[in-house]
Amino acid sequence: MKEQVLVSGGAGYIGSHTAVALIEAGYDVVIIDNFSNSDMGAVEGVRKITGVEVPFEQVDCCDKEALRAVFKKYPFKSVIHFAAYKAVGESVADPLKYYSNNLNSFVNILELMKEEGRNNVLFSSSATVYGEPVELPVTEQTPRQPATSPYGNTKQMCEDILRDTAAAYEGIKGIALRYFNPIGAHPSALIGELPRGVPNNLVPFITQTAAGVRECLSIFGDDYNTPDGTCIRDYIDVVDLAGAHVAAIARLVEGKNKESYEIFNVGTGNGTSVMELVTAFERVNELKLNYKIVGRRSGDVESVWADTALANDELGWKAVRSTDETLQSAWAWEKKVRGL
Ligand code: UDP
Repeated sequence: MKEQVLVSGGAGYIGSHTAVALIEAGYDVVIIDNFSNSDMGAVEGVRKITGVEVPFEQVDCCDKEALRAVFKKYPFKSVIHFAAYKAVGESVADPLKYYSNNLNSFVNILELMKEEGRNNVLFSSSATVYGEPVELPVTEQTPRQPATSPYGNTKQMCEDILRDTAAAYEGIKGIALRYFNPIGAHPSALIGELPRGVPNNLVPFITQTAAGVRECLSIFGDDYNTPDGTCIRDYIDVVDLAGAHVAAIARLVEGKNKESYEIFNVGTGNGTSVMELVTAFERVNELKLNYKIVGRRSGDVESVWADTALANDELGWKAVRSTDETLQSAWAWEKKVRGL
């Protein structure tokens, strides 16, 4: 029988790409999502790409009894928990919404794993836990910095909840994957990132500007202490990122983990500036982007990129897609969404 994996938030951006990668790697997948920031289109995209009628349940992970019914219905041993709110600014304006949702949903998942005897859990963490890093590139040993937003704080708190849970309860093993900046879309253009309202992230803003949905991209600051003055990030193709989840699940399923709780950086190991990314987008897609330099965005970190040696060595995983092909997939997806 195939190993089954529950994917919470599987209709979301990273969740849907991971569902595809798991199915392609031979896993059975069950998707749950409350559609708070997604819709059935992503589930249909996953089904179309894989040719598998992936089971889907519309469930909110904060509803423990509804979640329990999913645990009773499906025999999965592993859970990948994506379901969470992720808008930094909104979390500052409405912190209780973030603490309530992001913490309760994860605690419910873990309690049910304990109660129902399930073993393996991956948590979607973020490079945001490193804040303004004290060293570059950042390794998993680089100290976390105090969170600068309630959103970032929920990532740190959930990491700690998972660490303590895996230490205390026999049989529960966890991995936190610290994502750097996921971008791009599936090459089929059947799934991709679909932000509601004005995008906060750079690449959706770029593609929407190219599509004419936004008038002009604002580049937040060109006076940073970097070669071209714009901020540096580690942009990773979402399909590569999805592959890291498959490798991490395999590690837990096969019992290859060295500790009950482990952390891996998931990035490319390369830093790219905002200006370099904009220029590459224009070049590979043969278009001109309307942009202007504006003041810094408050809370932005100057530079952060990953040391990926641990993930490369221990997970046997590496990001392989070039930024150029990723920027092409991002644009192909935006065009598809806009009917261009
Ligand atoms: N950025 C920008 N204009 C935008 C959105 C983002 O110049 O409209 C910059 C932002 O200041 C940062 C980088 O792009 O330097 C990545 O921002 P994003 O919000 O995508 O990721 P994060 O800041 O969380 O790493």
